Amino acid sequence: MDKEFLGLTAIITGAGSGIGLEVAKGLKERGATVFGFDINQGDMAAYATFIKCDIGDAASVENAFAEFKKSSKTLDVLINNAGIGSLTTVEHETDEIWHKVLNINVVGTARVSKHAIPLLRASKSAAIVNTASIAAIDGIPNRAAYSASKGAVMTLTLAMATDHLADGIRVNAVNPATTDTPWVKKLLDQSADSKAARTALEARQPMGRLVAPAEIANAIIFLASPLQASVTGTAINIDGGMHSLRIPKK
Ligand code: NAD
Repeated sequence: MDKEFLGLTAIITGAGSGIGLEVAKGLKERGATVFGFDINQGDMAAYATFIKCDIGDAASVENAFAEFKKSSKTLDVLINNAGIGSLTTVEHETDEIWHKVLNINVVGTARVSKHAIPLLRASKSAAIVNTASIAAIDGIPNRAAYSASKGAVMTLTLAMATDHLADGIRVNAVNPATTDTPWVKKLLDQSADSKAARTALEARQPMGRLVAPAEIANAIIFLASPLQASVTGTAINIDGGMHSLRIPKK
């Protein structure tokens, strides 16, 4: 395994579970010192130093960075991965849910980045990767607020890439389709027939299977890598062909 992150320090939000956990594993394997900002430590202990942080709360983010700076004077990589979902249409979405989803997914990304950017500016290998979603570019039923929030994460990625180009900070995003994480398991557990619900999700993707969390993590790590110093303002779809392919029904 290449140790291209040796000597580099990374913060991953939502590192306790799912995609963030796989990124923590992968970055550690490649030599990085990893800090996980999360509301729960989850399973990150073997890969990342846990710092309690609710990205939906400005004071919590400020405290987390103060804690981080006690352990590290430098930061090279920020992975804005924590996010929440919401399953409904505009007709039924409440103002409370709209504010909550936009606050965590969009403002949370900006809030953490705001504290990270002064540190990243001093790095020779500065990179931010935001976890958006295929819902940012495709109409997925019953995900009004979530889709709007991830569309905003994608365009925020472009704005940040432009604003911080001269600072030497690359900013990119990934757009995962349905990925086999505890998030999806929880979602399936809520449906009356979770097996049928899983089959329907699998059928929605041309490859006929959910995306593996490690496949998303590999793309995030690719974008964060100092070996990709020319990649900025890009979103990679990791979606089993969902966005671009049209497969005739058998
Ligand atoms: P997950 O539930 O397995 O992990 C999410 C992690 O984020 C958890 O550890 C949780 O504690 C943490 N978190 C939640 N709210 C937080 C907050 N306010 N502050 C800090 N941490 C918080 O979910 P996942 O599937 O790994 O999702 C990670 C990201 O990937 C999310 O942004 C999600 O929108 C995105 N995504 C997931 C899928 C999918 O199908 N799983 C598809 C597209 C995009």
